[in-house]
Amino acid sequence: MSGIADRIAALQARLVALRPERPPRLMAVSKGQPWSAIAEALAAGLTLFGENRVQEVREKWGQRPEGTELHLIGHLQRNKAAWALRLCQAIDSVDSERLVAALERLLTTMATPPGGYPVMVEVNPGREPQKTGLWPEAVPPFLAARGEGRLRYVGLMAVLPRPADGSQAEAAKIRRLMQETADLWRMCRSEGWPWAPLPELSMGMSGDYEWAVEAGATMVRLGEAIFGPRPAGGADSPGGA
Ligand SMILES: *Cc1c(COP(=O)(O)O)cnc(C)c1O
Repeated sequence: MSGIADRIAALQARLVALRPERPPRLMAVSKGQPWSAIAEALAAGLTLFGENRVQEVREKWGQRPEGTELHLIGHLQRNKAAWALRLCQAIDSVDSERLVAALERLLTTMATPPGGYPVMVEVNPGREPQKTGLWPEAVPPFLAARGEGRLRYVGLMAVLPRPADGSQAEAAKIRRLMQETADLWRMCRSEGWPWAPLPELSMGMSGDYEWAVEAGATMVRLGEAIFGPRPAGGADSPGGA
């Protein structure tokens, strides 16, 4: 048995145990992983994948297997937006008006899926200055200002502070930020913006996904919990182009 298949089975059972009535979707974050590892995850039945860098998407996902869905979850530079739209089924890291304008412009020249091209707004709940993503208070005005276009806002993607010292105080802070992010998501959803149905809250990584599910995440993004430690030299940091 492959370690990857075993870990996926255990994680899926855990996600069902955490929320039996509506288990969150499991996204496999395959950044830094070779295709052989991705093939094991595919064989184990996973269909939703996330990558951080457009360059890596181009190198690895030129021949995306039928039935799979690939999301870009890392910071997107406008000069790579055309490749991202072409090769990914969603961009979960939208965080600026300029990026939105570039995507809308590119989509005028491409076939857009019915209902619009799906994007998520990236949120930086810890207001960490070194990270991308909108600060929470900026999200409602950002969404309110959008309007009907070729993009469809299907969710929020939150990137929380990484647990560093394992202390109780740190855990409490991260859990509070997750609750606040879930509240923000519900509040935005209740606005009923036609262009922003926001069915998804993408939150939780290998080190903190159980808390994220408790807080209400509909999708968790797991890299190392599925694949084991990333190979050296792989894209390790959240963000990155
Ligand atoms: C790398 C990454 C993940 C997965 O991190 P793990 O700790 O390996 O689970 C999730 N989301 C984003 C945005 C990332 O960059």
